[in-house]
Formats: sequence, structure tokens, C-alpha cells
Amino acid sequence: MSTVSIHPAVDNGIAPEQAGFAGGTLQCLCQHDKVEVKIEAQTLHNHACGCSQCWKPDGALFAVIAVVPSNKVSVVAHGEKLKIIDDSATIQRHACKDCGAHLFGRIENKEHAFYGLDFVHTELSPQRGWSAPGFAAFVSSVIESGTSPSRMSAIRGRLQELGLTPYDCLSPALMDALSTHAAKQKGTYREA
Ligand SMILES: [Zn+2]
Ligand SMILES: [Zn+2]
Repeated sequence: MSTVSIHPAVDNGIAPEQAGFAGGTLQCLCQHDKVEVKIEAQTLHNHACGCSQCWKPDGALFAVIAVVPSNKVSVVAHGEKLKIIDDSATIQRHACKDCGAHLFGRIENKEHAFYGLDFVHTELSPQRGWSAPGFAAFVSSVIESGTSPSRMSAIRGRLQELGLTPYDCLSPALMDALSTHAAKQKGTYREA
């Protein structure tokens, strides 16, 4: 039995995604006047993330974050409470000024491989059926947020046990997408 806690959305078993699920809403953690964001699509590439930029609920070691096309994301209530955490960052994270929850992260650089995708935390949604987390990214980075390196083997073990293969960057599929984009920009891309 493991005592490593990763994130509340995975620690007690991962909720399965629902076939045909087509989206829902995200709400910030405020008691009143919640910021609300509508997502009109199923999310993709949901994963645990150990980087120091992604929003994590109190006490969680990892964030759980997925992507969805930006044109399927709209703010439907209390957008006046949103602020961008760091507008020089690749991913501009729009967070609630009052509770700190990140409602969506957007890439504004049109040259970026992931331009057109927003990053969202579906744990902020009252609906069930969103894509389930499938791997863990930037695992070694939890050391930078104050985790002792001596705990890393237990953390990687727990992630494996949960079926979240640990990677110290993104998953192979996403790293390949980044490199494919870079190759196309350099003119070195080969179809076959
Ligand atoms: Zn809030
Ligand atoms: Zn992250």
C-alpha cells in the first residue's frame, strides 16, 4: 500500500471517461459569484503534471490538466474576476483573482506547436465523463516545488500503480508532436 498522495482526482481511483461526452462547465472555487467557463467539447491528453506552473489544489503534489480547442472555450460568468498570472509565459493562465483557481491556460503564440489549444482542469467541473488522466508529465519537477529527491522512487511507483506512466517531460506522443512541428518549421520534416 502506498501513502503517496498525487492528486484528489486520482488518489482514490480515476473516474472513467464517458463515450459521447461533449463538454460541460468549469467553476472557480469561490463560494459566491463563481467564474464559470463553458467547454463545448470532450478534453484530450488529460494527465498529471508535476511542473511548478500548473495550478494544483491545496496539498496536491501534481496538477491534473487536459487540452481542448480554444474555440470551444468561453467565459460565461464573472469574467471580471479573471487575471493572467504571467503574460510573458508560453501558456497564459487565466486565474480567479479571489480563489486562485486557474480556469484556462491559452497559448497566444501562433507559431507554437500547441497554438489553438487551451489547458483546463476538469476537476473544476460539476459534470462527470471528461477524458481520464492517462500519464504523468514533468515528474522530476516536483523537486523544484519542495519535494525531497529521496521520495521520487515512491512517487514514480505510485504513478505506475495508478496507470499514469511517469515521464520527466511530456508523453512520447506529445513530444513527437512538438518535434514534428519543429521539423516542419526547419524544413527537415519527412512524411515516410
Ligand atoms: Zn474564484
Ligand atoms: Zn504543468
